[in-house]
Formats: sequence, structure tokens, C-alpha cells
Amino acid sequence: MSSTILDTSIEFLKGVGPKRAELLAKELNIRTFENLLFHFPFRYEDRTKFYEIKNIQADLNYVQLKGEIIYIEEIGDKFKKRLVAKLKDDTGIIELVWFKGVKFLKNQIKVGKQYVVFAKPNSYRNYINLVHPELEEISEYKANIQSSLQAVYPSTEKLNRSGLASKNILKLIKTLLNQIKGHIPENLSQSILQENSLVSREPAIINIHLPSSVDNLKKAIYRLKFEELFFIQLDLLKLKLINQNKLKGFPFEKVGDSFMNFYNKVLDFELTDAQKRVLKEVRKDLGSGKHMNRLLQGDVGSGKTIVALMSMLIAIDNGFQAALMAPTEILARQHYEGIKEMLEPLNLNVAVLTGSVKQKERRQIHDGIESGEIQLLIGTHALLEDKVKLKNLGLVIIDEQHRFGVAQRAKLWKKNIQPPHVLIMTATPIPRTLAMTLYGDLDISIIDELPPGRKPIKTIHWFENKRLRLFGFLEKEIAKGRQIYIVYPLIEESEKMDYANLDEGFQHIFQRFPPPKYKVSIVHGKMPADTKNYEMSRFVSGETDIMVSTTVIEVGVNVPNASVMIIESAERFGLSQLHQLRGRVGRGAEQSYCVLMTGNKLSADGRLRMKTMTETNDGFKIAEVDLQLRGPGDLQGTQQSGTPINLKLTNLSKDGAIIELARSAANKILESDTILNSEENSVIMNYLRKRNRGKVNWSQIS
Ligand code: ADP
Ligand code: MG
Repeated sequence: MSSTILDTSIEFLKGVGPKRAELLAKELNIRTFENLLFHFPFRYEDRTKFYEIKNIQADLNYVQLKGEIIYIEEIGDKFKKRLVAKLKDDTGIIELVWFKGVKFLKNQIKVGKQYVVFAKPNSYRNYINLVHPELEEISEYKANIQSSLQAVYPSTEKLNRSGLASKNILKLIKTLLNQIKGHIPENLSQSILQENSLVSREPAIINIHLPSSVDNLKKAIYRLKFEELFFIQLDLLKLKLINQNKLKGFPFEKVGDSFMNFYNKVLDFELTDAQKRVLKEVRKDLGSGKHMNRLLQGDVGSGKTIVALMSMLIAIDNGFQAALMAPTEILARQHYEGIKEMLEPLNLNVAVLTGSVKQKERRQIHDGIESGEIQLLIGTHALLEDKVKLKNLGLVIIDEQHRFGVAQRAKLWKKNIQPPHVLIMTATPIPRTLAMTLYGDLDISIIDELPPGRKPIKTIHWFENKRLRLFGFLEKEIAKGRQIYIVYPLIEESEKMDYANLDEGFQHIFQRFPPPKYKVSIVHGKMPADTKNYEMSRFVSGETDIMVSTTVIEVGVNVPNASVMIIESAERFGLSQLHQLRGRVGRGAEQSYCVLMTGNKLSADGRLRMKTMTETNDGFKIAEVDLQLRGPGDLQGTQQSGTPINLKLTNLSKDGAIIELARSAANKILESDTILNSEENSVIMNYLRKRNRGKVNWSQIS
């Protein structure tokens, strides 16, 4: 790897020097010419557009004005000294104010001259002025303007104070672009450029900083987004190839007795088409001799557990152990009870291991796992303890994946010489293009169909004034023998208030639904675990009518008789969380309801969330809206893939189309030139070498 002019330290750019270089490094992580080149503008100002003074309003963002300074005066005494000027155009007069640099500016600004003024309008005691506006003499403005669009750069307070505000950053970039013209190498092959109608790299970089037209700016941004996504996809797909080829998977060749007996004798319903399709995908992976690394997405209640169970039976039929990990004790127990019952006729050895299993029993289970006697192991994080030594773990299922980190998962593998097959199940649907990025190195299966006969949950949005009606409704449902969830938000910053809220709500319900006629459970995060489990189990067994709780019940709990979900202060929940909560009901044969209670004042966002919830039960549709509303930031936290994803330009919620194109381009070249040694792809390889400082472990693929 040879270093190029782009690697030059930023210190040596004209106008920088050691002091500013240090600041740029500290504040913006800009150390080299190349770093500065990739410090992109976050917006553009149209420098040909001028506001008229009469149209200036306080809620406008930055505005550009043109006019004559007709007055300038220093006002106030020592400590409250300020400089006030007046600017006049054909439509009116506006006041300009400075509190700093008064002396200097007073000498600079000349009454009677024409200026271009740039500022954010400010409202002060009901009239509008411009505080600390930027001023440029009109002749100077005309000399400087190269294109109508002027880039605006992110900067920081410290940089501003050291003369590196956006305008000066632009100046530096101009200097730099002049100096390195002809030295910005292409990193996409000719065929990729052609097939995707992309502009070349150097003009794209020049245009993103100094747009020659709106059209060229758009093309530049598109090209640079494509580049950003292409290299992420290349990394992800490469990782996937390595996993598939290097990591051998245990080949589960046969479909044996347990599977067949289960299918023929135990299963008392027809699998949905989606379940069949996913099982086929899983079976194909398991039989291939390659390592399965698959994500299973399916809305709450879509029947993921059966698919998981049948996959585990395949492992067992091939002489291996299988494990199912759940995020909470309650869920692990519930899976265990359900699975044990279903497997009763098959004579298999199933065990559950959680934190609360007593020492003696625990030791027995550890022994059974180690000897291989236990074939199917269900549990929580307790499965990850060093003492748990599985004899021959062939398949791991991870339920509700977002509670387990990547590192934790890796702990399980380490027990084997060869990693077990992995199936991660999640009930948080993620839009396809987002999944391609966040889970780009996994294969994805989707159950997009609910078992037949489910009545869609009726969702209602009520304001506080319907509270009495709500209580009346609950009374009727309880009289019918139904159970009810009432959920309160718990958001950490205002925890105290939230608990007060929960407590008040609980008292209210207690008064309205008093014992002994009614029985109420209460569960929240601050309770000791065993109290929580006790309260929970009373509700699960049907002993209590109402479960008042914070969001601890969010994940997976299955109480088919619970058919009403009340969500208090629903406006404080995100869409995906609302959908998860709603998924707790609608599991039995009865009509289920979800009532969203909100205060009277709703933001536009809040209203859209309530509307979306009342209009659809489709988790993928909800995920799309959620992504539009929140952006992908939160979802990125749930990222599972092994590649860091650092996006400068791309917006995962808006650039789905480019993601698809970039992924298919990356796929295509990996298919035809897996180790990228063709002449045509050498530009890509050179770029990767440079980016990875020479280390490109491409050989691992083959
Ligand atoms: P989730 O995807 O939320 O984990 P579960 O696996 O818990 O869903 O399934 C929810 C309920 O639907 C369970 O009671 C399960 O037995 C039932 N179920 C699953 N698949 C089918 C099917 N094909 N037909 C009828 N009921 C099904
Ligand atoms: Mg489940």
C-alpha cells in the first residue's frame, strides 16, 4: 500500500497549521486530506434567493437579505454595550444587533453601503430582529459566488471560536480540492458505474462540496450513497460467504422418528403455508453441510415456536442436542411447559435451566447435559455459564433476539469445536431493506401469515374523558370470564413520576374493582424477582382478573384467556412497542381488544402512531411507519451483524432503493469474481486494501 496525497496530514493544508489541525482532529476527527474531503455538508443555502424584509417571520430558519445600512450606533453602557444597525430594502426596515465584537464591527460597517445579510430571525418582545448576522458587502458577495448552492458544514462551538465556522471550512475545502484535482481514485468498477448510471468519484466529491447545479448535486449524493452502501454490503456478503464456506455445519441428513412422529401424531393443526416454507428453508440449511445462520422474523402469534421445535427435533434425530434460549425466566418456563407437554408422547429428555433452579437439581442437569442424556435444553442466560458443558450441541434457537448481544451468543458456540447451527427468532418485524443492512450477513426467513381463525384484535383510541366508559367495558369483559392487562409506561428519565403514576392507577383500579369480587395482580421492575414471578403466575393461571404492570410483560408471555390490553399514556410508547404489547392478546378464540388511552394533547407524531395502530394489525406495515417516524437509529441498536455500520450520507429509512441496488451489485461481483482478482475489479480491491491498511482476508472465502 503506497500512501498518496490524500493521506497528507491536514496540518499541511494552507490555512490550517498545527493548532487548527489539533482542533480539527479533536472536534471532527479530521486528520488527513481525505478526512476533510469526506466531511460532507449537511445542507445547502441557495445564495441567489433573497427574502424581502416585509416577509421575515420569527419562525423562519436562516434567511438571506439584501439592502442598505441606513443607521449604525453603539448603545448601552459598559456591560450592556451593543451595536445596533438598520437595514433597508424596498419593502421595509429591519434591526440588526451585535453584542460581541462591537468596536471592530462599528468601524467595518459603513452607512450608505449595500450589504448581503445572512441570519436567523429572532423575536424580541414581539418584534423581530437579527442577532449576530453575517454581513458581506455586495461586491464581495458577487465575487465569491460560484454556484447558487453553498454548502453548510457541521461545525462545533470550539471550532467556531477558532475561526473554523462552516464558511471557513468551505474555504479550506476549496483550497484542498484545487490541490488534489486528479488525485481522487475511482473505487467502483466500470460495469458497476454503467449499470447503475453513477457519476465517477472525483466529480461526485467535487459536486457535493461545490455543486455546479442542483442536478449535479443530486447525482453526486446518489453516487456517494451508493458507494457507502456498496462497501457495507460487500463486507456483509463476504462475511456470509466466509461463514458458509469456512465454518462447516453439522450435516443433519435425515428426518427421523421424532420429527415424523411429532408431525403425524402430535401436531393437531395444519401448519400455515408460511410455516411450511420456513421449515423447508431451515431443513435445506441443516442438510447442506454448511453452517446455518438464520434470522426468523414473524409477527407475534405467527407460530414461530412450532417451527423452532420442529427444527430442534431434526437436530435430535441426527444425534445432536438442541437448545432454546429465552430472554426471561418466565418465558423460558413457559416454553418448557408447552414443549414438554407436546413432546410427552415422544419420550424425549427435555430440561429447563434458569437462574432459580436449585443447586442440587442444577448439578443433575449439568451432568445430564454433559453426558448427552438431556437432548433438548431450554433456558435463560444460565445456559451461558461456564459450568454448562453441552456434549454435542447441534442447534441453538434464540428467542426474542434483541435481548441477547452478539458476544453472548458467541459464548455458546465456544463450547463446541464446531459452531452449532443458529436460528434467531424475532417478533420485531424489520423492513426488508433495513434487514439487508442490519442483518446483512444472516439469511432471513419470514412468517408473514397468522394461523387461520384468528380474529383480528379490535384497537380503539380513547382520550381521558372516556375513562368511565373504559371501566364499564372492563367490568363486562371480566363478567364474561376474560382477563385484562393494564400497562403503564416506564421511561427512565422520569422514573419517579412513572411509579407515582402506576401507583395512582393501581389505587384507582383497586377502588373500582375491589376484592373479593375482583382480583388484581401488580408487577413492576422494582419488585424482587420472586414476587414478580408469583404475581405473574397468578395471572397466568387465571387466578387474577387484571394484571397492572409496567412494560415487563412486553415479551412473549402467553395467556390465551387474556383478551383485553389497556395501554395507559399510550402516546409515550413507540409504535413497535405498542404493537408488541398488543400482541399479548388475541391468542385465544375470543374477540380481543386493545384500548390506547392518551391525554388530550397529542403531537402530530403521536396522532399518527395512534392512527396506525387502530388501522392495522400488520407488524411489517407498522414497522415501515415506525421507521419513517423514528429513523433507523434505535433499530441500529439491535444490530446483529458482525460489521460496524457507519453511515455518513445514507438514511436507512429513505434510501431503501439504493440499498437494494448496492447489495445486488455486491452480490453480482462476488458471484463472478469471488476474490476480486480480475482486472476490472482491481479498483475495488485497491480501495479495500487501502481502507483496511493492506489487510484483506479475502482468501478465507475460498
Ligand atoms: P409466536 O410467533 O408469537 O412465538 P407462538 O409460536 O407462541 O407464536 O404461537 C402462538 C399460538 O398459535 C400457539 O398457541 C400455537 O400453538 C398456535 N399455532 C401455531 N401455529 C399454528 C397453526 N398453524 N395453526 C393453528 N395454531 C397455531
Ligand atoms: Mg414466541
